[in-house]
Amino acid sequence: MTKHTCIVTGGSSGIGLSIVKTFLERGYHVCNLDQKNSDMGEFYQCDVTNHQQVQSIVTSIAKKYQVSTLVSNAGIHFSASIENTSEADLQRVFDINVKGAYSAIQAVLPTMKQQKNGSIILISSDQALVGKRNSFAYNLSKAALASMAKTTALDFASYNIRANAVCPGTIETPLYHHAINNYCERSGANADEVHLEEASLQPLNRLGQPEEVAALVAFLASDDAKFITGSLQVIDGGYTAQ
Ligand code: NDP
Repeated sequence: MTKHTCIVTGGSSGIGLSIVKTFLERGYHVCNLDQKNSDMGEFYQCDVTNHQQVQSIVTSIAKKYQVSTLVSNAGIHFSASIENTSEADLQRVFDINVKGAYSAIQAVLPTMKQQKNGSIILISSDQALVGKRNSFAYNLSKAALASMAKTTALDFASYNIRANAVCPGTIETPLYHHAINNYCERSGANADEVHLEEASLQPLNRLGQPEEVAALVAFLASDDAKFITGSLQVIDGGYTAQ
C-alpha cells in the first residue's frame, strides 16, 4: 500500500496539472479525476457533476491506496452579471464548481475518518473575498467553496481532518486565456493589451503561475501545515490587499 495518495480533480490542465506534478515530485501517488485525458499520475475519466461516478471512483481508489489528501480543483469560469446569467448558467457553474467539490469531499470522508487523518484543499478564488464585475455566478460559487472549507474543517476536526481553501488571484492558465479571449470577442479589445492591463492591476505587476499555487497546496497537505485548518489562503500578488 502506498503511503500518501492524493486525489486531484481537474488535474489535466492549468493549476490542477501543476498540482499533480508537484505532488508526484514530492513522492505522492496521485490520482487525477478529470474529463480530459492526461498521462500525469493515475488518470480516471470523471465528470465531477456526476455524483455517483465521483463516489464510485473515490471509493475504489480508497480501497487500493491510503488517501491522505483531496484537492478539489475542477472548475469553470463564467463571465456575466446577475442580469445576464440564466438559470441554466447558474446551475452549470454550481454543478461543477460547488457540487463537484461536495461530491468529492463526501466520497473521501469515510476513509479519512477511519484513518483519523486527512487534508482537504478546495481551490476557491480571491473573488470569494472581493467583488469582481461581470462574474456573478463564478464569484458566488467560489464564496460557497470558502464556506465549505470552514464548515468541513469544524465538522471533522475531531477526526484530525483539515480543510482549507486556496484563493488564487489571476493565474496564467488555459482557463484564464479562455476568459480573456471571450472578453475580447465580446468587446473587440486586443488580447495582448488586456493581458498587460491584467498584469498591471496586480501589485507585483505580473500574473501568478500555476506552480506557485501548487506549492501552496502541497504545503497545506504537508505536516508543516498540521495546525492550519478552516483557513482561506490568499495567493494573489497582493491584489486583495489594495
Ligand atoms: P483549467 O481550465 O486550465 O483547468 C480546469 C480543469 O478542470 C480542466 O482539465 C477541465 O477540463 C477540468 N474540468 C472542468 N469541468 C470538469 C468536470 N465537470 N469534471 C471533471 N473535470 C472538469 O482551469 P484553471 O487551472 O485555471 O483553474 C483550476 C481551478 O482554479 C478552477 O477551480 C478555477 O476556478 C480556479 N481558479 C483559477 C484562477 C485563474 O486565474 N486561472 C484564479 C482563481 C481560481 P476541460 O478543459 O475539458 O474543461
